[in-house]
Amino acid sequence: MFGAELVEHMADADTAAWGAVLAAPFIGSLLGVVVQRLPDGRPIALARSLCEECGAALAVRDLVPLFSWLASAGRCRFCGGPLGWFYPGVELAALAVALISVWVDSGAGAWLDCVLGWWLLTLGWIDLRRWLLPDALTLPLVVAGLAAAMAFNPEGLTDRAVGAAAGYIGLRAVGLLYSALRGREGLGQGDAKLLAAAGAWVGVRALPQVVLFAALAGVCAAACLRLAGVRLGAQSALPFGPFLAFATWLVWLTPMLTS
Ligand SMILES: [Zn+2]
Repeated sequence: MFGAELVEHMADADTAAWGAVLAAPFIGSLLGVVVQRLPDGRPIALARSLCEECGAALAVRDLVPLFSWLASAGRCRFCGGPLGWFYPGVELAALAVALISVWVDSGAGAWLDCVLGWWLLTLGWIDLRRWLLPDALTLPLVVAGLAAAMAFNPEGLTDRAVGAAAGYIGLRAVGLLYSALRGREGLGQGDAKLLAAAGAWVGVRALPQVVLFAALAGVCAAACLRLAGVRLGAQSALPFGPFLAFATWLVWLTPMLTS
């Protein structure tokens, strides 16, 4: 049913929204490069090599997202080594973000949903792999949220500026309290900056929902890992960024989902 509804909605969608869907796999490729290179401070360019094994150079025919990977059955054309799931995974996730955005929204709104979704996807993925939320991504996301408010929703600007401040101060206070009580850091500065970005997009009134959804998603993930046989003790933890990122996008989309 979801598929039929999506196809029907896509038929009605305007050219701008279609552009987002067509661009998504290519943007996904670029996000993959950012996820792999930004945490190490390596230059971001599409100059990645095709294969980690033999270092084969990437040709134009290898740059078509998803299709290149499918055409070569996920193997390097030169050494036959597996190319791994990382790039097709990010490209598929970026496509999913675009399809959901076009499904719930239209025109410039759909693009805005995509930009926020792709940005949060990149942050969540980096945190999952590296336990790191780079300032180079969180701080511009705060600015982008306030700029989007000025452009599309000027009357909501105060709510969103207060949201950014409250998000940072709130999570920083919890983090400091936690490390005082437990003697180890539970919430990093990066999490506080990400919640500031969340506040700059969803506003201060929706901020409690973001924290609640993120916490619930985290508890669900921990329960799933436990069921899968992974033991999480008091000393082990999951990065909070991916859950915060997911919850932020969900709360941002809520008005579109319920209207
Ligand atoms: Zn190779």
